[in-house]
Amino acid sequence: MKIGILGGGQLARMIALAGYPLGLKFVVLDPDPNAGAAGLSEHLHGAYDDPALLAELAEKADVVTYEFENVPAHVAEFLSTHTKVYPPANALAVAQDRLLEKNFFKDLGIGTAPFAAVDNLRDLQQAMMQIGYPAILKSRRLGYDGKGQVVLNSADELDEAWQAMQGAAAIVEGFVPFRREVSIIAARRPSGDIVFYPISENSHSGGILRIAECRSDDAEQSMAEDYVKRLLEKLDYVGVIALELFDVDGQLLANEFAPRVHNSGHWTIEGAETSQFENHLRAILDLPLGSTKARGFTGMVNFIGGLAADEQVLSIGNSHLHLYDKAPRKGRKVAHATARADTEADYREALLGLANLASAVDDS
Ligand code: AMP
Repeated sequence: MKIGILGGGQLARMIALAGYPLGLKFVVLDPDPNAGAAGLSEHLHGAYDDPALLAELAEKADVVTYEFENVPAHVAEFLSTHTKVYPPANALAVAQDRLLEKNFFKDLGIGTAPFAAVDNLRDLQQAMMQIGYPAILKSRRLGYDGKGQVVLNSADELDEAWQAMQGAAAIVEGFVPFRREVSIIAARRPSGDIVFYPISENSHSGGILRIAECRSDDAEQSMAEDYVKRLLEKLDYVGVIALELFDVDGQLLANEFAPRVHNSGHWTIEGAETSQFENHLRAILDLPLGSTKARGFTGMVNFIGGLAADEQVLSIGNSHLHLYDKAPRKGRKVAHATARADTEADYREALLGLANLASAVDDS
């Protein structure tokens, strides 16, 4: 079986690594000649919407999946007419547009921050009378890791904030005074079977994920499972999904979902019985899904902008290093390291050591 992947970065790389034991072969489409997954797969080198390369990908792959959600709709449609494409194109369409996404949550009875569509300065001024300060103005499309976002603290800032959007359609959201940010990762296969991972508690700074920790037996697990199940069933979804949530005093509000494997689930490689990458492959191949049970205490630290020496990372007991084969650049995720241990004390010590190393080289 050959799996096609749109995008050949670290997510494709980790999908391929999970697929080798299952005897799978991979072909990735990526414009970067040094794409991180290139060494592990056949690499179609060119633009994501190059018709000849898409035709070649569709022809070579038994199933096509992707590692990022901003796949142009016409590309997903084209591929769907030639081969199986999972997750389904409608999940992409919703996830690509923050307004559609928030309305989608609302229609499913999933709570969100108060929000309103903003197409011009007047919309913004009117919406802010309802929403109140602080708030966040976000572009509807092509936003990730806090990009295309402006925090609003007073009415004086509206003019400048709207100008920063450069005419792009936007939404404004009330700022959620969350106690913590969590995400839940789940996988669904075509027959409708679903597995849920233990929720992950996530620390961000500058809009970028820094640390994700597995929280087994968390009080919010069943609410998170209920929410993500509604999404999966409504979308007739196949593959792994990640739903990011704000925890406000035990009430979960949805921020966004990613129709793909997710950075907050990288701990599953060592920390769960079956990794998110393997379960994504099992789901899109309609194979039985694997146990999502956590193996002891586990969490992950991202290396952003710089790398610590391998020697330093691995000298920390109970740690595991994943290099993405990417040149360090400001704000770029270049590696992650997982801490996994049987006791909480050993785990905490490893995670702290890794977090210290990552923050020493972090340039963002
Ligand atoms: P996003 O690009 O929507 O994932 O936002 C990136 C990060 O910004 C989130 O992980 C939060 O830390 C923060 N953020 C986004 N939206 C809100 C909000 N409505 N209230 C508070 N913090 C937010």
